[in-house]
Amino acid sequence: MSNVTDIFASMVFDDAAMEARLPKETYKLLQKTIKDGKHLDLGVANIVAAAMKDWAIELGATHYSHWFQPMTGITAEKHDSFINTKGGKLIMDFSGKELIKGESDASSFPSGGLRATFEARGYTAWDATSYAFIKDGVLCIPTVFCSYGGEALDQKTALLRSMEAINRQAIRVLKLFGNDNVTSVKTTVGAEQEYFLIDKSVFDKRKDLIYTGRTLFGARAPKGQELDDHYFGAIKPRVAAFMKELDEELWKLGILSKTEHNEAAPAQHEMAPIFTTTNIAADHNQLTMELMQKVAKRYDMVCLLHEKPFAGVNGSGKHNNWSISTDTGINLLEPGETPYENAQFLLFLCAVIKAVDDYQDLLRISVASAGNDHRLGAGEAPPAIISIFLGSELSEILEAIENDENYDTKQKDILRVGVHTLPKFPKDTTDRNRTSPFAFTGNKFEFRMLGSATPISFTNAVLNTAVAESLRMFADRLEESKDFEKDLHALIKEIITNHKRIIFNGDGYDDAWIKEAEKRGLSNLRTTPEALSHMLDNKNVELFETHKVFSRTELQARTEVLLESYCKIINIEALTMLDMARKGILPAMSKYSGELAVTAREKAALIGKNNVKYEIEQVKMFSSWIETAYKTAERLDENLQKSKSIKDMASLAEFYRVHILEDMKELRTACDSMENVASITHWPYPSYGDLLFSVK
Ligand code: ADP
Ligand code: MG
Repeated sequence: MSNVTDIFASMVFDDAAMEARLPKETYKLLQKTIKDGKHLDLGVANIVAAAMKDWAIELGATHYSHWFQPMTGITAEKHDSFINTKGGKLIMDFSGKELIKGESDASSFPSGGLRATFEARGYTAWDATSYAFIKDGVLCIPTVFCSYGGEALDQKTALLRSMEAINRQAIRVLKLFGNDNVTSVKTTVGAEQEYFLIDKSVFDKRKDLIYTGRTLFGARAPKGQELDDHYFGAIKPRVAAFMKELDEELWKLGILSKTEHNEAAPAQHEMAPIFTTTNIAADHNQLTMELMQKVAKRYDMVCLLHEKPFAGVNGSGKHNNWSISTDTGINLLEPGETPYENAQFLLFLCAVIKAVDDYQDLLRISVASAGNDHRLGAGEAPPAIISIFLGSELSEILEAIENDENYDTKQKDILRVGVHTLPKFPKDTTDRNRTSPFAFTGNKFEFRMLGSATPISFTNAVLNTAVAESLRMFADRLEESKDFEKDLHALIKEIITNHKRIIFNGDGYDDAWIKEAEKRGLSNLRTTPEALSHMLDNKNVELFETHKVFSRTELQARTEVLLESYCKIINIEALTMLDMARKGILPAMSKYSGELAVTAREKAALIGKNNVKYEIEQVKMFSSWIETAYKTAERLDENLQKSKSIKDMASLAEFYRVHILEDMKELRTACDSMENVASITHWPYPSYGDLLFSVK
């Protein structure tokens, strides 16, 4: 391997490349535009584009692409080559106009009704805060994707708007604490990514994995994850080689891949990057998922990013580590040294507590998908109920403030915000509770409900906006204050009292918690359709409109897209199941039981019926399973036909959730029962054991 420092960001037109290749004046102007988030002047853009093109060509690029994140959840790119003609000669050309704005005939991207097909054009615009990079010989320019009316058609636009919103409000609050030198506040994210690796030869034999990314059938293997022998275990040479190459590919793109390890389930792994600014982290996470799949193929493996590829073992999530930092280098969620810093920390902490409590439903919605529904609440992932883990030390401090008490025996008088320092709480003791969906881990929050395949943009847009709203309310109140310290204390106390129901340090997987959460009035939106039915609640529309993150129309469109995607995913799964059951499993099991029947008859003729128990019982059981599977498949088919007449998207999603998923479950149960005892030579698909232990 080449030197890491040499290859790191070698494929990125980053600050160093810009400084080296742009005229000083242009470089300064570009820096300023990036910092202020303003539009790039065309004259400047022309110079930047030319330099970018020369740089890219030197590194072997022949094409450029506006790279964006439509609402499909994956990234999109359309390649244009640099070639042009001038005076009959071929030249390599890339203009400022082409850099900053692209037109896209993107009528096939989901828009949720924002764009009729006859006005199919949308445009892409460079997000200059995210650097251009080269991928497979293509200069990729990270862009946002909007309709001509300016409505967001992608995942990124709202995220950028939400970052502006939290920046605006956080600066107001910071001014109150005398931080006049802070000019910008950004949220930071480190997204830990889980995934499975299986051998390509077994993957290719499973239509369910090919079409849907998860197994729709499959009896449990004799061994799963119960021995905990995979978790953090020694990494197999083939996987280690994959991880090494993945790291190199990620580093070339400036992605700070830091940790690679085995996860709980057999064949499950994780990559954790070092955190960075949220919009860049979102781009990096998309690239990470793409590269995981690409690099796996080079090792004859397939990377599964589905949230629940296998029943009975852990699914895959994505942990969204989130914090807020100033351009002066202060992490606002890190307890400080002085009483004043601590007061500021507590206020920002309260902003998150209030935000998570007020917008539980939106946070749940932001992680809702057909795939993640199999995971949330399924025993290994956080439940669908949102709560915050603060750890005992911090919880005790909040209690002391709420009840006007001292928080430890050494302290004589009651705890006053802005007067007393907080005790140092050891960072690692705050991360013990792995069952919490939203855990404070010393200097950041870790939101653990995201599914492995979910893009992180929407979740962070929700989080940023909800916290911006808390900060807006705090600033409105405190800017009017005549006695800052007193009013600050009162405000923190009020927030704790009003929102403490969201704090829970216990076992989130315990059934008792579900009852307790209900008593506290916390929402428990177990499925995607249930969650999405709250997207357009007035308070949510108001939140997004106040902070100019989504208009009502955009939010309606997003809801449609999410509901539609839920239905489509389940529809594909149902059709795949029918295909596998009708063409694979049922014929195979009919043949198998037929052979058993013949054997039974022949053996009975020879040695008497009483000595042919195995064959006779098998034939009976298989006949009954086959009947059940056949009938359920017929019913599933009928219900799929019925679903076609449902036009309203929310009703359709509800129909899929209630009827289609239920039929699918029954069909699976009947087929898995057969797989459990059928002869391996007759079963038409690789087993769970073959899949989970395929990478030797
Ligand atoms: P561990 O959970 O093993 O203790 P860390 O706490 O160092 O590891 O980090 C876990 C993840 O959180 C990493 O992706 C890390 O980069 C990220 N992280 C750390 N600090 C921050 C922060 N201030 N903002 C966002 N993410 C962070
Ligand atoms: Mg973690």
